[in-house]
Formats: sequence, C-alpha cells, structure tokens
Amino acid sequence: MNEGLISCPKDGEPMSRIVLGPVPIDRCPTCGGVWLDKGELEEIRRAMLDHGETLDALDDLGTSEPDSRPRPLECPRDRSRLSVHRDPKQSHIEYDSCSKCGGLFFDAGELSDLTEFTLAERLRSLLG
Ligand SMILES: [Zn+2]
Ligand SMILES: [Zn+2]
Repeated sequence: MNEGLISCPKDGEPMSRIVLGPVPIDRCPTCGGVWLDKGELEEIRRAMLDHGETLDALDDLGTSEPDSRPRPLECPRDRSRLSVHRDPKQSHIEYDSCSKCGGLFFDAGELSDLTEFTLAERLRSLLG
C-alpha cells in the first residue's frame, strides 16, 4: 500500500490526512472531496459499530460549491480511470471507484446538485 500523500483526482490539489475516529483518510482541502483506499470504508463501518464514531466531522470541514467536474477522473494512486457509481435506490449516493486498487472517491461538491444530503449522510447510507 502506498502511504504517500496523494493528489485530489478532481483538481490535483494535494490531499491532507484527516482522522475519522481511528481511521485516517485523505481529504482535499480545496474541494472537500474524500478519497478512501480499499478497505477504509470497512474500517469506518467497524469503527462506527465498535466506538459509535460519527462521520459528522466530515461535514464540519465544509464543502465547496459544485462545479463541472471533468470525467473521467483518474485514480490518484495508479492513474487508472475511475468509474462512476450511483445507487439506483439511493440516487444521492454517487461516488467514483478504481477497479485496479479498489479506492473510492467521494466528491463533496456533487451533493449540491443531487440533494441536500451531506457527505457524511451519503457515506452513512452507503455503510447502511
Ligand atoms: Zn479536490
Ligand atoms: Zn487505483
């Protein structure tokens, strides 16, 4: 696993490490997008079950205005193309995933065009 800091797939800005409970994740300070490496979603789920950790910290960090995002995005780890996923039953849950490394990207700006669901709410629904 590459431990180095990565660049935001959306705008290329260096992402910073933030800690959600016991789980360190990468977040873009510019657009508010969040990158989860393979398995990190599971770790967050487990942390929430074990410690009642909340995702609200993500929303406290603020989000950016939506913009026309370039598609497809590239994986910040291996430069593969990310594919877009949208849950047909919960259309507010949209994210990009890398089929090569299994990473996931959640765009904070996207939520504004879809619904008023926050990033934390979308993640929570996904963890369901
Ligand atoms: Zn960004
Ligand atoms: Zn990848």
